[in-house]
Amino acid sequence: MTEDKERCLNAPDTEREELPVDVALVGAGPASLACAIHLRRLLAERGLEDKTVLVIDKAEEIGHHTLSGAVMDPRGLAGLFPDWRERGCPIEAEVGEDWAEILRPGGGSRRIPAPLTPPQLRNHGNVIISLNRLVRWLGEQAEELGCEVYPGFPAAEVTYDGERVTGVVTRDSGLDKEGAKKPTFEPGMRVSAEVTVFAEGSRGHLTKGLIKRLGLDAGANPQTWATGVKEIWEVPEETGAAMFGKVMHTGGHPLGTDAYGGGFIYGLSENRLALGFAVGLDYHDARLDPHALFVRWKQHPRIAGLLQGGKILRYGAKTIPEGGIFALPRLSGDGFCLIGDAAGMVNASTLKGVHLAIESGRLAAEAIADALAGNDTGSGALGRYDELFADSWVKKELWGVRNYRQAFDGGLFAGMVDFAAQRVTGGRGFFKRRPGHTDHSTTRPLSESKLGAPTFDDGLFLDKLTDVYHSGAVHEEDQPNHLVINDPTICATRCPEEYGNPCQHFCPAAVYELPEGELQLNPSNCVHCKTCDIADPYENIEWVVPEGGGGPKYTDM
Ligand code: SF4
Repeated sequence: MTEDKERCLNAPDTEREELPVDVALVGAGPASLACAIHLRRLLAERGLEDKTVLVIDKAEEIGHHTLSGAVMDPRGLAGLFPDWRERGCPIEAEVGEDWAEILRPGGGSRRIPAPLTPPQLRNHGNVIISLNRLVRWLGEQAEELGCEVYPGFPAAEVTYDGERVTGVVTRDSGLDKEGAKKPTFEPGMRVSAEVTVFAEGSRGHLTKGLIKRLGLDAGANPQTWATGVKEIWEVPEETGAAMFGKVMHTGGHPLGTDAYGGGFIYGLSENRLALGFAVGLDYHDARLDPHALFVRWKQHPRIAGLLQGGKILRYGAKTIPEGGIFALPRLSGDGFCLIGDAAGMVNASTLKGVHLAIESGRLAAEAIADALAGNDTGSGALGRYDELFADSWVKKELWGVRNYRQAFDGGLFAGMVDFAAQRVTGGRGFFKRRPGHTDHSTTRPLSESKLGAPTFDDGLFLDKLTDVYHSGAVHEEDQPNHLVINDPTICATRCPEEYGNPCQHFCPAAVYELPEGELQLNPSNCVHCKTCDIADPYENIEWVVPEGGGGPKYTDM
């Protein structure tokens, strides 16, 4: 294995079954399933029904690893299925009313008057969804059209012929902690494909290695992420009815003016609320803890009041790529395409990416179908995807907010002033192109940290372990650790002194603990959010795909 290739925990020198397909899609989120659906239709139009389209996913069931807010702009879905409503696409509610509030640290809150609400936070015409339910429905549509959809098959390694991607190898199962084969050992398959589509979601493990190996991000800004923490609550009927179809975003408490982030509450059906808090991982405090900030946010009387008398149903966390168009890598190459969150297609100003993910999958399908029809799946033919993207409404939308997130690098007020300028300069703002930075490079020494732990209880303000229980996260315990520490000596020497082992704080699933001053890992808790792979100040942690079926078991998220 070369250094610029992804790390893989599979057993070396192992005989593997080969599964040849025409198109392999890695990950079963909205981008991937939209791509598979559209591709099957295009192949049928071209008389290429015999081509095989395979979707593989690391989750035990489709949707188990899928989480989002989510208020969806239906534009992407309507491009895929103009009759998406008539087909029974699951939605929670039409957005009836939306607003933004500033939470004051002392306890009060102030609603921003409608004319002053930033246009990107206006959601009329959008729908509240469970992304988890949406992808399950998309999975059914894909299977009806003849796509093979295999959950429980994590892609562990990319195979290459020179610079050409030739497929993936799925993860072995039945290896013990030391990597030795147990009696239950099952080797991963070698999936060889004419085209491999990387749709792993945010900070995809294989996508990260591919971008690095082929230099796909040459000339791009460093990607920047937020971590979002979410719960679903069942609330008393009165609260549920009052909030149904409502969309509330918050700024202010518990963040100061030197951090980027905020909270949301969306009113679902059946007296449920989706609530969450996202914070930029470039927050410089070494004790940055997205879960702790979420708890502090819930402790604000305005939020706590909405949860009174309710109970938690679900918990989860994910990272969100926020770097925008200047952080996008090249989207295609010899034998491959990148789509959705894996490529970084999120509009950070509207907090939305599902519509962009679906459309990116649809555009990639157009290029792949033509490439297969022409028996040429090289970088020239698949480069049509980059061209289609350049002419698309996805590009136009992202271009319109091209400097949005980077403008907040200098703090909230500087960002707001620049954003106001962006609105009258077609997205440009004060600078033609702001440069961005890696998140981990912004962490300041522990001696400057001001953040502390919140207080928890058994009711509204749950600790991490109680929350993780509600994510359903579980992994086979006796397997190689999928959270690889490159240099453990750093964890015991430099890191405690310089940053106070920030992994114990930024992980939203209590995977990293220091019970007696020594780092101890609980990989079974991992909800696959990838925060550790991004935020570690020494880039010392690598998230590597575990055995199939491990991870959270999200439903309704
Ligand atoms: Fe997220 Fe890493 Fe914690 Fe897993 S170990 S939940 S990927 S921060």
